[in-house]
Amino acid sequence: MVGIQSADVQNAKVQNLGIQLTDVSKSFGALKVIHGVDIKIEQGEFAVFVGPSGCGKSTLLRMIAGLEETSGGRIEIEGRDVTHKEASTRGVAMVFQSYALYPHLTVFDNMAFSLSVAGRPKAEIAEKVRSAAEILRLTDYLKSKPSQLSGGQRQRVAIGRAIVRQPRVFLFDEPLSNLDAELRVKMRMEIARLHRQIGATMVYVTHDQVEAMTLADKIVVLKSGVVQQAGAPLDLYRNPDNMFVAGFIGSPG
Ligand code: ADP
Ligand code: MG
Repeated sequence: MVGIQSADVQNAKVQNLGIQLTDVSKSFGALKVIHGVDIKIEQGEFAVFVGPSGCGKSTLLRMIAGLEETSGGRIEIEGRDVTHKEASTRGVAMVFQSYALYPHLTVFDNMAFSLSVAGRPKAEIAEKVRSAAEILRLTDYLKSKPSQLSGGQRQRVAIGRAIVRQPRVFLFDEPLSNLDAELRVKMRMEIARLHRQIGATMVYVTHDQVEAMTLADKIVVLKSGVVQQAGAPLDLYRNPDNMFVAGFIGSPG
Protein backbone atom coordinates (compact mmCIF):
# COMPACT_ATOMS: atom_id res chain seq x y z
CA MET A 1 0.00 0.00 0.00
CA VAL A 2 2.85 2.33 0.82
CA GLY A 3 4.16 1.85 -2.71
CA ILE A 4 0.82 2.83 -4.21
CA GLN A 5 0.59 5.92 -2.02
CA SER A 6 4.00 7.16 -3.03
CA ALA A 7 3.10 6.60 -6.70
CA ASP A 8 0.06 8.80 -6.11
CA VAL A 9 2.23 11.47 -4.59
CA GLN A 10 4.53 11.30 -7.60
CA ASN A 11 1.55 11.65 -9.94
CA ALA A 12 0.29 14.65 -8.01
CA LYS A 13 3.61 16.36 -8.62
CA VAL A 14 3.76 15.53 -12.33
CA GLN A 15 0.15 16.50 -13.05
CA ASN A 16 -1.09 19.78 -11.74
CA LEU A 17 -3.78 18.74 -9.27
CA GLY A 18 -4.86 22.31 -8.76
CA ILE A 19 -6.43 24.49 -11.43
CA GLN A 20 -4.91 25.50 -14.73
CA LEU A 21 -6.28 28.05 -17.18
CA THR A 22 -4.61 28.13 -20.58
CA ASP A 23 -5.28 30.97 -23.04
CA VAL A 24 -8.82 31.38 -21.72
CA SER A 25 -10.94 34.02 -23.37
CA LYS A 26 -14.55 35.14 -23.16
CA SER A 27 -16.76 37.32 -25.27
CA PHE A 28 -20.31 38.46 -24.68
CA GLY A 29 -21.51 39.04 -28.22
CA ALA A 30 -19.04 41.44 -29.81
CA LEU A 31 -17.61 42.46 -26.44
CA LYS A 32 -14.42 40.58 -25.51
CA VAL A 33 -14.03 40.74 -21.74
CA ILE A 34 -11.34 38.09 -21.02
CA HIS A 35 -8.21 38.04 -23.16
CA GLY A 36 -5.93 34.97 -23.33
CA VAL A 37 -5.65 34.37 -19.60
CA ASP A 38 -3.06 31.87 -18.27
CA ILE A 39 -3.32 31.08 -14.57
CA LYS A 40 -1.90 28.18 -12.56
CA ILE A 41 -3.20 27.49 -9.08
CA GLU A 42 -1.55 24.72 -7.07
CA GLN A 43 -3.53 22.13 -5.12
CA GLY A 44 -4.40 23.51 -1.68
CA GLU A 45 -3.42 27.03 -2.65
CA PHE A 46 -5.47 30.10 -1.69
CA ALA A 47 -5.61 32.17 -4.88
CA VAL A 48 -7.17 35.63 -5.00
CA PHE A 49 -8.31 37.35 -8.20
CA VAL A 50 -8.20 41.07 -7.61
CA GLY A 51 -8.88 44.08 -9.80
CA PRO A 52 -11.29 46.95 -10.28
CA SER A 53 -15.00 46.47 -10.89
CA GLY A 54 -15.75 45.15 -14.37
CA CYS A 55 -12.25 43.70 -15.00
CA GLY A 56 -13.63 40.16 -15.40
CA LYS A 57 -13.09 38.51 -12.00
CA SER A 58 -16.58 37.04 -11.71
CA THR A 59 -16.59 35.92 -15.33
CA LEU A 60 -13.32 34.00 -14.78
CA LEU A 61 -14.65 32.40 -11.61
CA ARG A 62 -17.91 31.43 -13.29
CA MET A 63 -15.98 29.82 -16.14
CA ILE A 64 -13.99 27.75 -13.61
CA ALA A 65 -17.28 26.77 -11.95
CA GLY A 66 -18.81 25.84 -15.31
CA LEU A 67 -21.59 28.42 -14.93
CA GLU A 68 -20.33 30.28 -18.00
CA GLU A 69 -19.06 28.81 -21.29
CA THR A 70 -15.54 29.74 -22.36
CA SER A 71 -15.10 31.36 -25.79
CA GLY A 72 -11.60 29.92 -26.15
CA GLY A 73 -8.82 28.18 -24.28
CA ARG A 74 -8.72 25.33 -21.79
CA ILE A 75 -9.63 24.87 -18.12
CA GLU A 76 -8.19 21.95 -16.17
CA ILE A 77 -9.12 20.97 -12.64
CA GLU A 78 -7.01 18.32 -10.93
CA GLY A 79 -5.41 17.41 -14.23
CA ARG A 80 -8.74 16.87 -15.99
CA ASP A 81 -9.83 18.99 -18.94
CA VAL A 82 -13.22 20.31 -17.79
CA THR A 83 -13.56 23.07 -20.40
CA HIS A 84 -16.80 21.67 -21.79
CA LYS A 85 -17.87 19.61 -18.76
CA GLU A 86 -21.02 20.20 -16.72
CA ALA A 87 -20.66 22.32 -13.58
CA SER A 88 -21.90 19.44 -11.42
CA THR A 89 -19.03 17.18 -12.52
CA ARG A 90 -16.21 19.59 -11.70
CA GLY A 91 -15.86 18.94 -7.95
CA VAL A 92 -16.18 22.64 -7.17
CA ALA A 93 -18.57 24.54 -4.90
CA MET A 94 -19.27 28.22 -5.13
CA VAL A 95 -19.95 30.32 -2.02
CA PHE A 96 -22.53 32.98 -2.62
CA GLN A 97 -23.31 36.01 -0.53
CA SER A 98 -25.31 35.32 2.61
CA TYR A 99 -28.51 36.75 1.17
CA ALA A 100 -28.69 33.67 -1.07
CA LEU A 101 -29.93 31.63 1.94
CA TYR A 102 -33.48 30.27 1.94
CA PRO A 103 -35.27 32.46 4.51
CA HIS A 104 -38.02 29.94 5.27
CA LEU A 105 -35.61 27.06 6.00
CA THR A 106 -33.64 26.44 9.20
CA VAL A 107 -29.85 26.65 9.24
CA PHE A 108 -29.76 22.83 9.18
CA ASP A 109 -32.04 22.65 6.14
CA ASN A 110 -30.17 25.42 4.35
CA MET A 111 -26.94 23.49 4.76
CA ALA A 112 -28.59 20.16 3.95
CA PHE A 113 -30.34 21.46 0.85
CA SER A 114 -27.99 20.35 -1.94
CA LEU A 115 -27.49 16.93 -0.35
CA SER A 116 -31.26 16.45 0.05
CA VAL A 117 -31.83 17.40 -3.57
CA ALA A 118 -29.13 14.89 -4.56
CA GLY A 119 -31.06 12.22 -2.62
CA ARG A 120 -28.31 11.44 -0.10
CA PRO A 121 -29.32 9.25 2.86
CA LYS A 122 -30.65 11.15 5.92
CA ALA A 123 -27.95 9.84 8.25
CA GLU A 124 -25.18 10.95 5.90
CA ILE A 125 -26.76 14.39 5.53
CA ALA A 126 -27.06 14.81 9.30
CA GLU A 127 -23.44 13.77 9.77
CA LYS A 128 -22.11 16.19 7.15
CA VAL A 129 -24.22 19.12 8.34
CA ARG A 130 -23.17 18.52 11.95
CA SER A 131 -19.52 18.34 10.98
CA ALA A 132 -19.74 21.56 8.90
CA ALA A 133 -21.61 23.30 11.73
CA GLU A 134 -18.81 22.36 14.10
CA ILE A 135 -16.12 23.74 11.81
CA LEU A 136 -18.11 26.98 11.43
CA ARG A 137 -19.20 27.20 15.09
CA LEU A 138 -22.89 27.02 14.15
CA THR A 139 -23.84 23.97 16.21
CA ASP A 140 -26.12 25.99 18.50
CA TYR A 141 -27.95 27.59 15.60
CA LEU A 142 -29.00 24.61 13.50
CA LYS A 143 -32.69 25.11 14.34
CA SER A 144 -32.63 28.89 13.79
CA LYS A 145 -33.90 30.69 10.73
CA PRO A 146 -31.54 33.00 8.82
CA SER A 147 -33.48 36.05 10.07
CA GLN A 148 -32.49 35.16 13.65
CA LEU A 149 -28.78 35.22 12.83
CA SER A 150 -26.18 37.96 12.64
CA GLY A 151 -24.64 38.88 9.28
CA GLY A 152 -21.48 36.95 10.10
CA GLN A 153 -23.44 33.86 11.12
CA ARG A 154 -25.48 34.03 7.92
CA GLN A 155 -22.27 34.21 5.90
CA ARG A 156 -20.97 31.15 7.78
CA VAL A 157 -24.17 29.27 6.81
CA ALA A 158 -23.53 30.23 3.18
CA ILE A 159 -20.04 28.72 3.51
CA GLY A 160 -21.51 25.68 5.29
CA ARG A 161 -23.68 24.98 2.27
CA ALA A 162 -20.50 24.57 0.25
CA ILE A 163 -18.60 22.55 2.88
CA VAL A 164 -21.23 19.79 3.17
CA ARG A 165 -20.62 18.95 -0.47
CA GLN A 166 -16.96 18.26 0.37
CA PRO A 167 -15.68 19.94 -2.78
CA ARG A 168 -12.02 19.77 -3.69
CA VAL A 169 -12.22 23.38 -4.85
CA PHE A 170 -14.04 26.32 -3.21
CA LEU A 171 -14.89 29.37 -5.28
CA PHE A 172 -15.78 32.62 -3.48
CA ASP A 173 -17.16 35.67 -5.30
CA GLU A 174 -16.84 38.73 -3.06
CA PRO A 175 -18.50 36.83 -0.21
CA LEU A 176 -17.95 39.62 2.32
CA SER A 177 -18.95 42.64 0.27
CA ASN A 178 -22.34 42.97 2.02
CA LEU A 179 -20.87 43.02 5.53
CA ASP A 180 -19.74 46.05 7.49
CA ALA A 181 -16.01 46.75 7.85
CA GLU A 182 -15.57 45.22 11.29
CA LEU A 183 -17.38 42.02 10.37
CA ARG A 184 -15.42 41.75 7.13
CA VAL A 185 -12.18 41.58 9.10
CA LYS A 186 -13.59 38.88 11.39
CA MET A 187 -14.94 36.81 8.50
CA ARG A 188 -11.66 37.17 6.66
CA MET A 189 -9.98 35.45 9.60
CA GLU A 190 -12.68 32.78 9.64
CA ILE A 191 -12.08 32.02 5.97
CA ALA A 192 -8.30 31.87 6.53
CA ARG A 193 -8.90 29.45 9.42
CA LEU A 194 -11.21 27.33 7.24
CA HIS A 195 -8.52 27.11 4.58
CA ARG A 196 -5.90 26.01 7.13
CA GLN A 197 -8.32 23.47 8.58
CA ILE A 198 -9.59 21.75 5.43
CA GLY A 199 -6.71 22.53 3.07
CA ALA A 200 -8.83 22.61 -0.12
CA THR A 201 -7.89 24.68 -3.15
CA MET A 202 -9.65 28.04 -2.88
CA VAL A 203 -10.19 30.78 -5.44
CA TYR A 204 -11.42 34.04 -4.00
CA VAL A 205 -12.56 37.10 -5.93
CA THR A 206 -12.43 40.59 -4.43
CA HIS A 207 -11.86 44.20 -5.40
CA ASP A 208 -10.43 44.81 -1.90
CA GLN A 209 -6.61 44.95 -1.95
CA VAL A 210 -6.29 44.46 1.82
CA GLU A 211 -8.45 41.35 1.68
CA ALA A 212 -6.29 40.02 -1.16
CA MET A 213 -3.01 40.78 0.61
CA THR A 214 -4.08 39.11 3.87
CA LEU A 215 -5.77 35.99 2.46
CA ALA A 216 -3.75 35.02 -0.60
CA ASP A 217 -0.95 32.55 -1.15
CA LYS A 218 -1.12 33.81 -4.71
CA ILE A 219 -2.63 37.03 -6.06
CA VAL A 220 -3.71 37.39 -9.67
CA VAL A 221 -4.09 41.07 -10.62
CA LEU A 222 -6.52 41.71 -13.48
CA LYS A 223 -7.23 44.78 -15.54
CA SER A 224 -9.70 44.83 -18.44
CA GLY A 225 -9.66 41.03 -18.71
CA VAL A 226 -5.87 40.78 -18.91
CA VAL A 227 -3.63 39.32 -16.19
CA GLN A 228 -1.21 42.04 -15.13
CA GLN A 229 0.81 39.91 -12.73
CA ALA A 230 0.47 36.78 -10.58
CA GLY A 231 2.53 35.88 -7.56
CA ALA A 232 2.88 35.87 -3.79
CA PRO A 233 1.53 39.04 -2.14
CA LEU A 234 4.95 40.19 -0.97
CA ASP A 235 6.52 39.62 -4.40
CA LEU A 236 3.87 41.78 -6.04
CA TYR A 237 4.31 44.40 -3.38
CA ARG A 238 8.10 44.49 -3.68
CA ASN A 239 8.46 43.86 -7.41
CA PRO A 240 5.39 45.06 -9.27
CA ASP A 241 5.66 44.47 -13.04
CA ASN A 242 3.96 47.74 -13.94
CA MET A 243 2.46 50.95 -12.60
CA PHE A 244 -1.02 49.47 -12.46
CA VAL A 245 0.06 46.64 -10.15
CA ALA A 246 2.12 49.04 -8.04
CA GLY A 247 -0.82 51.42 -7.72
CA PHE A 248 -3.36 48.71 -7.06
CA ILE A 249 -1.34 46.71 -4.53
CA GLY A 250 -0.20 49.92 -2.91
CA SER A 251 3.55 49.46 -3.21
CA PRO A 252 5.66 52.57 -2.65
CA GLY A 253 7.53 52.41 -6.01
P1 ADP B 1 -15.97 41.91 -12.15
O1 ADP B 1 -16.49 40.70 -11.48
O2 ADP B 1 -14.49 42.02 -12.14
O3 ADP B 1 -16.60 43.17 -11.63
P2 ADP B 1 -17.38 40.84 -14.45
O4 ADP B 1 -16.71 39.54 -14.71
O5 ADP B 1 -18.69 40.81 -13.76
O6 ADP B 1 -16.37 41.84 -13.71
O7 ADP B 1 -17.60 41.59 -15.83
C1 ADP B 1 -16.58 41.75 -16.79
C2 ADP B 1 -17.16 42.46 -18.01
O8 ADP B 1 -18.07 41.59 -18.66
C3 ADP B 1 -17.92 43.72 -17.69
O9 ADP B 1 -17.69 44.65 -18.74
C4 ADP B 1 -19.36 43.27 -17.69
O10 ADP B 1 -20.22 44.33 -18.04
C5 ADP B 1 -19.36 42.20 -18.77
N1 ADP B 1 -20.36 41.15 -18.54
C6 ADP B 1 -20.40 40.29 -17.47
N2 ADP B 1 -21.43 39.43 -17.60
C7 ADP B 1 -22.05 39.74 -18.76
C8 ADP B 1 -23.19 39.21 -19.46
N3 ADP B 1 -23.87 38.16 -18.98
N4 ADP B 1 -23.53 39.79 -20.63
C9 ADP B 1 -22.84 40.84 -21.13
N5 ADP B 1 -21.76 41.38 -20.54
C10 ADP B 1 -21.37 40.85 -19.37
MG1 MG C 1 -17.83 40.52 -9.89
